[in-house]
Amino acid sequence: MTDSTRANGGLRRAVVVGGGVAGPTVAMFLRRLGLATTVLEARSEAAGDEGAFLGLAPNGLQVLAELGLGAEIQARGAVCQGMRFTNARGRCIGVIDHRDHAQRFGAQMVMIRRAELHRSLMTAAGERGADCRFGARLVALDERPGEVVARLESGEQLAADVLLGCDGLRSRVRALTLPDAPAPAYTGLCDLGGFARCPGAPLEPGWTVMTFGRRAFFGAFAAPGGEVWWFHNTGARETMQVADPEQRRASILALHAGDPGWIADVVRATPTLLGPWALHDIMTLPRWHAGRVCLLGDAAHATSPSAGQGASLALEDALVLARCLRDAEAPQAAFARFEQERRGRVEAVVRQARKNGDGKAPAGPVAAWFRDRMLPLFLRLGAAAQARTFAHRVEWSPRAE
Ligand SMILES: Cc1cc2nc3c(=O)[nH]c(=O)nc-3n(C[C@H](O)[C@H](O)[C@H](O)COP(=O)(O)OP(=O)(O)OC[C@H]3O[C@@H](n4cnc5c(N)ncnc54)[C@H](O)[C@@H]3O)c2cc1C
Repeated sequence: MTDSTRANGGLRRAVVVGGGVAGPTVAMFLRRLGLATTVLEARSEAAGDEGAFLGLAPNGLQVLAELGLGAEIQARGAVCQGMRFTNARGRCIGVIDHRDHAQRFGAQMVMIRRAELHRSLMTAAGERGADCRFGARLVALDERPGEVVARLESGEQLAADVLLGCDGLRSRVRALTLPDAPAPAYTGLCDLGGFARCPGAPLEPGWTVMTFGRRAFFGAFAAPGGEVWWFHNTGARETMQVADPEQRRASILALHAGDPGWIADVVRATPTLLGPWALHDIMTLPRWHAGRVCLLGDAAHATSPSAGQGASLALEDALVLARCLRDAEAPQAAFARFEQERRGRVEAVVRQARKNGDGKAPAGPVAAWFRDRMLPLFLRLGAAAQARTFAHRVEWSPRAE
């Protein structure tokens, strides 16, 4: 499908590095503009449950809706009705209700396995004519007059008019293009997770329960099919260093000793532990582009998961960058416009995510007493900011002539 408005500046070929969230999405928008687009993904096509699961917020889903993929992605995942926060004794100390999101924001929060999301987006990009390649790792790039050349690990070289770095937190494109850019910062939290069947867990289908445990934080989403999708955040980096999965499980169980007993049941019922991930973010990069190369998604502004926005921001970026390429006279002007339009929004979310993550750190008895009483107020205050984030709309409107 080609949009009636085509890319300005005579662009014909694009190379997109990364087949996660931003990569295939921007590829679909570039195909609308008629660009021959290649997506390079380092992983093999068979990569399994890498990355566990994530939540797509209404602001991200509206980008998928623009591509005609909203209903499909929602069907592949599950709507999250809301979140209940509990303390280490299992007492509910706050609720965020998502059930009116469709009416307020035009879409609901959708939880989806990461592998499922990646697969669906790459398939959709392929169906729209993008050349999506797995096992294709970018190792170097050269800028020549009028083009940029991607060099793959296999030795193959691909020339393009623009190259988009959608290769995530540890972006190779960023390292090659902006070698002085600051490294991602460790947030102080590690993340592990998994998928389990645990019929005895007191979880309501479609709801997430977030528990401020005595020594670690635990989040569990009850997927409608009866599975529990869970994650565990800890500041205890030792868990990261344990190589043996059963010892790692023992370390998670030890960190939740004394917390509601169903948490241990879920961890024990999990066939394969996923992770660990040391959570990093990038508060700000001096710039997002150089020459014919531009970064988007986590490569430009990695967000810790604690705001549930990284994937949704990557989707927004994809639409806005393609629109800027459509409307600007030259790639450099498009990239500058893109950065100008996006920087304020994404950096505010990265800061908020860091703050939310800090709130997950284990609290002493006095701090926990205050948190239990203050959380409803913090949730109310946070609700306005969250509503602004969810209500944000990026538009694929026609070019203004
Ligand atoms: C544990 C965890 C939980 C999270 N939970 C949420 C959540 O609930 N909600 C949310 O919105 N966000 C969440 N996030 C953040 C979210 O996953 C990211 O913000 C989002 O995936 C960013 O998308 P992206 O396309 O920029 O990068 P990615 O999705 O990371 O994709 C980058 C891709 O590039 C590929 N790649 C890397 N290097 C190369 C190379 N040299 N050549 C070719 N390919 C390469 C990688 O294999 C990968 O597939 C979470 C993150 C983590 C770590």
